[in-house]
Amino acid sequence: MSERALADSFGRPLGSLRISVTDRCNMRCRYCMPEDEYVWLPRESILTFEEIARLTGVFAAVGVRKVRLTGGEPLLRHDLANLVELIARQARLDDLAMTTNGLLLGTHAAALRAAGLQRVTVSLDTLRPERMIAFAKSARHADVLEGIAAARRAGFAQLKLNSVVIRGFNDDELADLVEFARTHDAEVRFIEYMDVGGATRWSRDQVVSQQEMLEGLARRYGAIEPVRPTGDGRAPAERFRLPDGTTFGIIASVSAPFCRTCDRSRITADGTWFLCLYAAQGIDLRERLRRGATDRELAGIIRDTWQGRTDRGAEERLGVADRAALYRIDALRADPHREMHTRGG
Ligand code: SAM
Ligand code: SF4
Ligand code: SF4
Repeated sequence: MSERALADSFGRPLGSLRISVTDRCNMRCRYCMPEDEYVWLPRESILTFEEIARLTGVFAAVGVRKVRLTGGEPLLRHDLANLVELIARQARLDDLAMTTNGLLLGTHAAALRAAGLQRVTVSLDTLRPERMIAFAKSARHADVLEGIAAARRAGFAQLKLNSVVIRGFNDDELADLVEFARTHDAEVRFIEYMDVGGATRWSRDQVVSQQEMLEGLARRYGAIEPVRPTGDGRAPAERFRLPDGTTFGIIASVSAPFCRTCDRSRITADGTWFLCLYAAQGIDLRERLRRGATDRELAGIIRDTWQGRTDRGAEERLGVADRAALYRIDALRADPHREMHTRGG
């Protein structure tokens, strides 16, 4: 297969692929899975590790260089290290990372590292166990902390912590999270609460904007300066530096979306390919794969589809008057692919 540079309608390359390995989760974060019951993807539709690895190889052949495993909770997928090993064999990839809620990381960090996982991001919204019970229906805060410690012991470089900031929940913990990250050799990235599918309790007033976060941290620490981006400048987080040199990031997906540089797409655990976090429809790659499509045919479908991509979901949401939750619960039940925990964050 040729490696001709592939770009979408706005000139954005296909550089990064997020692979959701399961739609199941062992937490129930209020901003992602606030409901009591969910419709799950049928078991027989879930891609095997071999199928995921094959698709990843095809994506790498058309230009993908960064892969991130996500979910749901990726560590609920048994023997995930075996998948990591299969994907890590792809010589074309520069980066193989995972986003996890950390609950099972203490058990699996060393095996994942040995299998070739390069980077880990752990979601940590609060340092207060009682808040995690209220907000994520999990009493296992200590396991997340142990997961973070295990990731460091396993030798993961550039450990990142993701904190979704919600007014009235954890917006008083920003400095504490910065301090925690500093003392754990990690970098925290504050994420604005997004109105993605699944966030059925979303409202504009709960969003703490990047500007508000910076103002709050500047009151505590003094002048904060932006860090000049390194690499290809396509990372979603803008990074900042405190006067003492500590760095942190903010993902301002609501107040200042970054669609114009977005090189990310997502595959769900059942092999549906989404070109945008907000896209209403995906492309069913599983059916083609299981019907015997060759790598060349799959690559052709991916190329043609990406070339026609016009998605800029978060920017379009800026223009919505009376902005509220993207989908109501009945629409999510009708098609669980619309859920963030299915699509992968
Ligand atoms: N379960 C894993 C975890 O929580 O890290 C991986 C999947 S989760 C869907 C990936 C990321 O999406 C997490 O960092 C989570 O905080 C983020 N996320 C989920 N819902 C969100 C929302 N409504 N707004 C902003 N970020 C969200
Ligand atoms: Fe929380 Fe991640 Fe599970 Fe969503 S998928 S409920 S963000 S742990
Ligand atoms: Fe990319 Fe869509 Fe997110 Fe914009 S909203 S940054 S196009 S995934």
